[in-house]
Amino acid sequence: MLQTMLFDAVRKRLGEGAVVTGMAAEGFHESGGKVEVTFRDAGGAAYRAEADILVAADGIHSAVRRQLFPHEGPPKWGGAVLWRGTTRAQPFLTGATMAMAGHEWQKFVTYPISRPDTETGEALINWIGELKYDAGAGWNREDWNRQGDFADFLPAFEDWRFDWLDCPSLMRAGGVCFEYPMVDRDPLERWTHGRVTLIGDAAHPMYPIGSNGASQAIIDARVLTRAFIDHGMGQDALNVYEAERRPATTRIVVANRGNGPDQVMQLVEERCGGEFDDVTEVLSRAELEQTAAAYKKLAGFDVETLNARPSLLPPRGASVPA
Ligand SMILES: Cc1cc2nc3c(=O)[nH]c(=O)nc-3n(C[C@H](O)[C@H](O)[C@H](O)COP(=O)(O)OP(=O)(O)OC[C@H]3O[C@@H](n4cnc5c(N)ncnc54)[C@H](O)[C@@H]3O)c2cc1C
Repeated sequence: MLQTMLFDAVRKRLGEGAVVTGMAAEGFHESGGKVEVTFRDAGGAAYRAEADILVAADGIHSAVRRQLFPHEGPPKWGGAVLWRGTTRAQPFLTGATMAMAGHEWQKFVTYPISRPDTETGEALINWIGELKYDAGAGWNREDWNRQGDFADFLPAFEDWRFDWLDCPSLMRAGGVCFEYPMVDRDPLERWTHGRVTLIGDAAHPMYPIGSNGASQAIIDARVLTRAFIDHGMGQDALNVYEAERRPATTRIVVANRGNGPDQVMQLVEERCGGEFDDVTEVLSRAELEQTAAAYKKLAGFDVETLNARPSLLPPRGASVPA
C-alpha cells in the first residue's frame, strides 16, 4: 500500500512516464560526467539509460552492488528462519497490541494489521514464527514468495497457548505461510563510487529486527534528498549522504546481529528459562527501558531527539535552491 501511494505520488509529480517497470538493471558504466545503465526486460531485450547519477535501490541481491564488489558473494545467514503469515481472527489484548514471546532460538511475534471488521469483529493479524538452527546447516535462497511448510515449525510452537492467545491455532488458521531465512550482509567500507551510490537494502541489508530495514531505507531517501537540495544533483551530494548514513546504518546492522532490542527476551530466558510469574522479578523495568531507549537512539527513533531536531526536509511547497 505504501509502495502504491509512493508510485502514484511520483507519477503525479513527475509525469506518467517517470517510472518504468519490468526492467532489471544489469550494470553501469561511468564516463564523461554521465552514468550509462544497462537494463534487460523479461523478454530478454536490452535497454540503456543515461543519467547524471545512479542511486541503486535494487535490494539485497543488488546487481549494482555486485558490480562494485564482485567478490562479496551471497547474503549471510545467521541460522534463523522466519515463517510469516496472516490470519483473520478476533483481536487479542488491547486490539492493537504487538506481542513478542520467546528468545533467541524460538520466537513468536504478532500484531493486527487491520481494524476489526464491523460485523465479525475479526481483524487481519500478522504473525511470525521463528526458529534458529546451526548456521552451518543449509538454507534456502531468501525470497518473499517461497511458500513454507507448517510441519517445519508448528510442532515447536504446539504448547505456546496463552490465556489471551493460542499461537499455534492462530498460525494454523492462516492456511498459508511464507518462509524467509534471516540474512544480511557485512557492512561496506564505501557506498559511493563516483556518480554511483547504493541505498536501502542494496547498501545495508540487515536482520529485520527492531522494525528496521524499510525504515532505514526511508531515512536514507530523506537524507539523500536533503543532500541533493543542499549540494545539487552530483557527487558532492552522494558523499554527504554516505557520510551521514553509512556509519548510522552500520551500527544497526551490527546491533541486529546481537539481537537488537530483542536481547531483553534472551536475557529473561538465560536468567530463568522463561519461567516467571512477574517478569519484573527477572528483568527490572529500568533494564527493559534502558535496552529499548538505547536501541531507539541507535536506530534514530528516539522520541526526544526526533522532536528536538528540525525535519530532514523542508515542508512541501517551500522554496529550495534550483
Ligand atoms: C521477514 C522480513 C520482515 C521485515 N520486517 C520489517 C519491519 O517490520 N520493518 C522494517 O522497516 N523493515 C522490515 N523488513 C526489511 C524491509 O523489508 C527491507 O529493508 C526493505 O524492503 C528494503 O527496501 P529496498 O527498497 O531497499 O529493497 P527491496 O524492498 O528489496 O526492493 C528492491 C526492489 O528492487 C527490485 N530489483 C531487484 N533487482 C533489480 C535489478 N537488477 N534491477 C532493477 N530492480 C531490481 C526488486 O524487484 C524490488 O522491487 C523486513 C524484511 C524481512 C525479510
